[in-house]
Amino acid sequence: MESQHLVTLAKQFGAPLYVYDAAKIASQYQRLTDAFEGVGKLRLNYAAKALSNLSILRFMNHLGSGLDTVSIQEVKLGLMAGFEPESIIFTPNGVSLEEIEEASALGIQVNIDNLSILEQFGSKHPDVPVCIRINPHVMAGGNSNISVGHIDSKFGISIHQIPHLLRIVELTNMNINGIHMHTGSDILDIDVFLYASEILFETAKNFKDLDFIDFGSGFKVPYREGDIQTNVEELGKKLTKRFNEFCADYGKELTLAFEPGKFLVSEAGYFLAKVNVVKQTTSTVFASVDSGFNHLIRPMLYGSNHEIVNISNPDGRERYYSVVGYICETDTFGSNRRINEIAEGDILCFKNAGAYCYTMSSNYNSRYRPAEVLWLNGRGHLIRERENFDDILKNQVDVKHLFETSRKEVLK
Ligand SMILES: *Cc1c(COP(=O)(O)O)cnc(C)c1O
Repeated sequence: MESQHLVTLAKQFGAPLYVYDAAKIASQYQRLTDAFEGVGKLRLNYAAKALSNLSILRFMNHLGSGLDTVSIQEVKLGLMAGFEPESIIFTPNGVSLEEIEEASALGIQVNIDNLSILEQFGSKHPDVPVCIRINPHVMAGGNSNISVGHIDSKFGISIHQIPHLLRIVELTNMNINGIHMHTGSDILDIDVFLYASEILFETAKNFKDLDFIDFGSGFKVPYREGDIQTNVEELGKKLTKRFNEFCADYGKELTLAFEPGKFLVSEAGYFLAKVNVVKQTTSTVFASVDSGFNHLIRPMLYGSNHEIVNISNPDGRERYYSVVGYICETDTFGSNRRINEIAEGDILCFKNAGAYCYTMSSNYNSRYRPAEVLWLNGRGHLIRERENFDDILKNQVDVKHLFETSRKEVLK
């Protein structure tokens, strides 16, 4: 997306603002589909939690995607956005049996990731086919916050518990129709992923009525030039071959599923913020924007490196800046960044702002969450209004009457 369009959108809708480029989402969807063209039945279930705006979900449905959800609220959003129940999979972790039953009653495929709930669900609903989430105990990447398939992870049913799992399936007479793993957001090494896949294939042989194998996600996208990213084309070639071999052995053409979140929306997103203050200190030049980790927490939470560009002065001389927010604690977006000279009032653009950015935003410091715009066919379409003071007050209960007496009485 061209930066002059982003400048125009910031003027039109105000800053701070999230902008999502529909064409980029579509091309990522196509790229992944193409990488697995050799698979007879491929299903991509967009992971709603990456960016769950209703209009984005509608767009995903329009592209032909399914939906991966982790809460009953995401399930309901998906249904509202037009997804058929059969196109939604519910893959929660640590939620109650009631929540899983609620999703199942809506016709959603449930994916269960612990033996306790599996036993309870199977005993009560032996006729409902269930997918199981396996933990293959493989360390994907090095970031233990986002790597979720390793031995210490809370996710999935351990491969070492397969005997117990099989006992539950047999005793409850339930039907396992899918098998799933999700190793986290850091597939750097395709061979590690393929190794985990072998564990999944091995486990799958225990179940006679599978319809699909779900390989989760974890596709790494580049954040800056030269970054390592998952080579989905190479992964596509290698996994397709193994998957088709497995299906031939298994005696049935299964569906190969993925649940990409970041891969589909990360690079499509731009976060625009206005510079309030340029402050020269003894050690650096700070550019303070009208935002903070209330809007974009990834740099502070995960140390993620979002490229920052001054779209108001694309040809200006480059200088070193620390870009910070207005939150009353440290909220550095980027230190020692070379950025075209910044003046107060300029619009800075943060890249890779599609995944886990708006959805992780908050009202901290009693600030409003930004508006969201979808860039489609050369036009910006508002898909979420900026919050206002009513949103800050919403759901608060003002117990003013308790304090109408004298101060002494209240504290007695
Ligand atoms: C978050 C999540 C995803 C999406 O992961 P990305 O790295 O954003 O692609 C997929 N599957 C499950 C179960 C998840 O929890």
